[in-house]
Amino acid sequence: MFVRKFLPHLIPFRLLGYAWRDGVWHLDLKARRCSAVCPCCRHRSTAVHSSYRRTLADGPIAGSRVLIHLQVRRFFCRHAACSRRIFAEQFPTLVPVRGRHSLAVCSALRQVGLAVGGRAGARLAQALGLPGSYRTIVRFVHRAPFASFADPRVIGLDEWAWRRGRRFGTMICDLERHQVIDLLAVRSAPSVAQWLQAHPSVEIVCRDRSRLYAEGIRHGAPQAVQIVDRFHLVQNLGEALERFFLRDRRELNTLGTLLHQSSEPTPTPAMISQARHDRWVHLYHQIQQLHAQRLGTAAIARRVQVSRPTVYRYLAMAQPPERQRSRHRGQPLVAPFTPYLRQRWNAGCRNAQQLWRELVAQGHSPSRRTVERYVGQLRRETGTRFKFRQAPPALLYAEDQDESRPAPLTALRAARLFLAKPEEQRPTDQALLTHLLHLDPVMTPTYHQVQAFCRMTRERRGDEWDAWVTEVQQTGVKELRGFVQGLLKDEAAVRAGLSLVWSNGPTEGFIHRLKLLKRQAYGRAGVDFLRHRILAAPAGAAA
Ligand SMILES: [Zn+2]
Repeated sequence: MFVRKFLPHLIPFRLLGYAWRDGVWHLDLKARRCSAVCPCCRHRSTAVHSSYRRTLADGPIAGSRVLIHLQVRRFFCRHAACSRRIFAEQFPTLVPVRGRHSLAVCSALRQVGLAVGGRAGARLAQALGLPGSYRTIVRFVHRAPFASFADPRVIGLDEWAWRRGRRFGTMICDLERHQVIDLLAVRSAPSVAQWLQAHPSVEIVCRDRSRLYAEGIRHGAPQAVQIVDRFHLVQNLGEALERFFLRDRRELNTLGTLLHQSSEPTPTPAMISQARHDRWVHLYHQIQQLHAQRLGTAAIARRVQVSRPTVYRYLAMAQPPERQRSRHRGQPLVAPFTPYLRQRWNAGCRNAQQLWRELVAQGHSPSRRTVERYVGQLRRETGTRFKFRQAPPALLYAEDQDESRPAPLTALRAARLFLAKPEEQRPTDQALLTHLLHLDPVMTPTYHQVQAFCRMTRERRGDEWDAWVTEVQQTGVKELRGFVQGLLKDEAAVRAGLSLVWSNGPTEGFIHRLKLLKRQAYGRAGVDFLRHRILAAPAGAAA
């Protein structure tokens, strides 16, 4: 009754007995049928030769592990034409031949392995009451069947790194069905050509700007239309722009600072240069002064918001700097919390642990060490070496001390300002862009050329390509001309990318998923394991 209701897969068996030992249910079972089919000749036999016991693990009952002790009978095969004399009965609905896990457990372990990988899978399985070591799970994942796929017509190719920066593979996606259909362990023209030859149904291939793929597609599927993915086009344009802005980086840096300090009209290059030099001189005096007050290097660095190497560099100078590149360091981790920490410090709280707990209670997540370090710095600077001593009032910190410093206008940020849709630009960025455009006469035409290209990619206006190329070749800056030169080498595919609807977006998405799978195993998973995890049939599909 119990078996029939709760363990339907055990209905063909008679329950001889059960016991609970060491946190495991032990079930003694025997097949109800008194005959078995010979695996060689498929004739049924009832002549029992002998029997033995076989143990296998089944799915958990109420979270507890289950071991099945199965009585297996050997039968005589009486069929004259059969070469087999004796055979053991099999239980295809319960357990695979020679398997030590029931079919239900095999399927569960495989799904666990596919979802979270080998080692994490083993831990999860244990928590779920499933028997299965790391190796067992890896073995099941390797045996998982691949999802079936229809003949692809439109595919996307993209590289994926399985040793970052050193070894690359290729991912192949069906762009019509949004499905990964293969993962090649290498990124090479022959491997792509070979794959395409085996899949002659392909008509359109979306790829990045790589020459390898272009060549592979030309050899493997000469009939296919090649498309350069629009994402990569815009990415390459961004890189060209970044190179362009790097030429003027010093102006950009100072522009960012000036804009933050005032809402003056557009600064001239002379003003920019002056402001930059003033800042350096001011920094020099500040650092020297703090050093004379016997502040540590790290404390000085934090106070004036520069890196420690910069402090060393300025301390080594005998006089204020002349013309050098300025450096910026990012905000210290503690920066968002310093106003609160100072306020509490001034209120008399000297306990770093307590302050950290207060910040956490407010929903922030600074590390305990960060807060400790900052409180230690306050302690050193105010001369309160012991936490129970009150700080002298004269050394209290001003709570509204402005430590924030404008984010420098990097070449990357400037490039993004140029690439962004004007209507999606934030008002502050809009203002920055306006200043940037006035910085140099070459900026405005460059901006319009960049925007025209972005419009072409967004709205697929391939028909504007020729006019755009001519304009950039005649009036564009060096970096943009170089960008166009590169595109012209691959013109047909670029033109197709600007005209056709297909894009490699889904492939990029799957690459992200693959990265996640890769990192779940801390980068140790082999290609074959990853291949199974990404290509395996979804749960519920026939195993
Ligand atoms: Zn037989």
